[in-house]
Amino acid sequence: MIKPNVVIGGYYYRNTIKGVVTTTAVLEEIIIFLKNFGCSSITIGEGSVLLPELGVDTLSAFQYAGITDLAQKQGVNIIDFYSQPFNEVSIEGESFQVSSAVLESDFVINVPVLKTHNQTKVSLSIKNLKGALSFKSKKRFHNLGLERHIAALGAYIRPQLNIIDGLYTVNNGPVSPDWRDVGVVLAGRDPLAVDVVGTSILGHDPRDVGHLVEYANLTGSSLDLEDIAVLGETVENVGIKTQWDKPAYEQIIMMCGVNGVSIPTPGLSLCSSCGFGLAMALYSSFKDLSGRCFNQVEICTSSDVKASPTTKQVFLIGKCAIAANKDVPNKIEVKGCPPRIVDIQEKLKQHLLVQI
Ligand code: SF4
Repeated sequence: MIKPNVVIGGYYYRNTIKGVVTTTAVLEEIIIFLKNFGCSSITIGEGSVLLPELGVDTLSAFQYAGITDLAQKQGVNIIDFYSQPFNEVSIEGESFQVSSAVLESDFVINVPVLKTHNQTKVSLSIKNLKGALSFKSKKRFHNLGLERHIAALGAYIRPQLNIIDGLYTVNNGPVSPDWRDVGVVLAGRDPLAVDVVGTSILGHDPRDVGHLVEYANLTGSSLDLEDIAVLGETVENVGIKTQWDKPAYEQIIMMCGVNGVSIPTPGLSLCSSCGFGLAMALYSSFKDLSGRCFNQVEICTSSDVKASPTTKQVFLIGKCAIAANKDVPNKIEVKGCPPRIVDIQEKLKQHLLVQI
């Protein structure tokens, strides 16, 4: 079982491939190696972000990453974890659904990308395993404590091999057009060791990454680069500076050239589908309104964000934001878990056009 990172893909994401998804160059080398080694049953599996209104799912992600063509060329299987059975497993005392195909494989090769992440700072080997969860379990991870649960899932699956594809990286990932050349591949049996090295190459301290700290505590391992035998290139030779914390929604609003709209940065409780859906709805709603000035509009999403009491108009996007802001006056609710993109667009249009 090869588990790449194919976080998202579809027509709208066709230009954000470098440093975002595992490259076919690295995957093909792994497949060729496995075939030469005598492996006869090779599968590439993933469970990507789902935005059904845009036709964005695992199969569209495979297609845009070039993996569908690669699988055909090399005669290997591809599977969408969501369309396959899940095992119910206990993690941190709670029941979660983890792909049976991953758990029942006799050798799991985890192939993440070397990249930053706007919630978890980095997304490397341990974080990549979240893709093996059902959609429902992914949402519960965000609600119950993302970093701790990512670590516990990593310790539960324990892939036999981790190969970080660091041909490229991105600033402010997990999905961003701001890519950089790095030109490295890291491999190791211990996911924490390769993640400590990967985090250091990205210019960050592994002790600042919540799920790495949790994983080290759970497994009694070290976060110290000095304790890891790094062969080949040195971290100093290939290390770069990267940024993970540029607020994504504010960037969209700035790019659209509108004023008077604030979007507080959500925390770890925001799920990927909610996050990507809101980004898409914001861009499509504001892209043609350059130069417009709105009167104190605030758009809140996730249970971490509390609306400012002085804001004139508050949009609450999704079940979690609605529950966290019950007493807010002047609120406009967009229900759903995750809410539909068209519903967000419709509410923004209906209420903001009054201001124009
Ligand atoms: S409303 Fe959004 S953030 Fe909340 S659980 Fe649903 S998908 Fe996740």
